[in-house]
Amino acid sequence: MLTLQCPYCGVAADETELSAGGEAHLKRFGPGSSEEEFHDYLFTRENPRGVHFERWRHSHGCGKWFHAARDTQTLEVFGTYKAQTTEPPKDIRDAITAKRPGWTWRDVA
Ligand SMILES: [Zn+2]
Repeated sequence: MLTLQCPYCGVAADETELSAGGEAHLKRFGPGSSEEEFHDYLFTRENPRGVHFERWRHSHGCGKWFHAARDTQTLEVFGTYKAQTTEPPKDIRDAITAKRPGWTWRDVA
């Protein structure tokens, strides 16, 4: 079972206490963007076998949204952080790189 620590209330919550919210860190496109950009924003999602950043809600706890970095294949959790964070924190990216050398995420250096 997947267990994620809520970064707001500190509870280690089982997945039965959580609601999945899809991919984290989507770049939003609205008025003035091209049709292709808006289409990709609405419908295109990453679905990797490996490291992934996701949105989760502590729905049966404090109710807040947060982000989690985990491996979709092994269920290893690299860390969780607040939803207002615009990109994965450096300590989490470093932890992932230490365990998955050569790993990259989009345009984060
Ligand atoms: Zn919580």
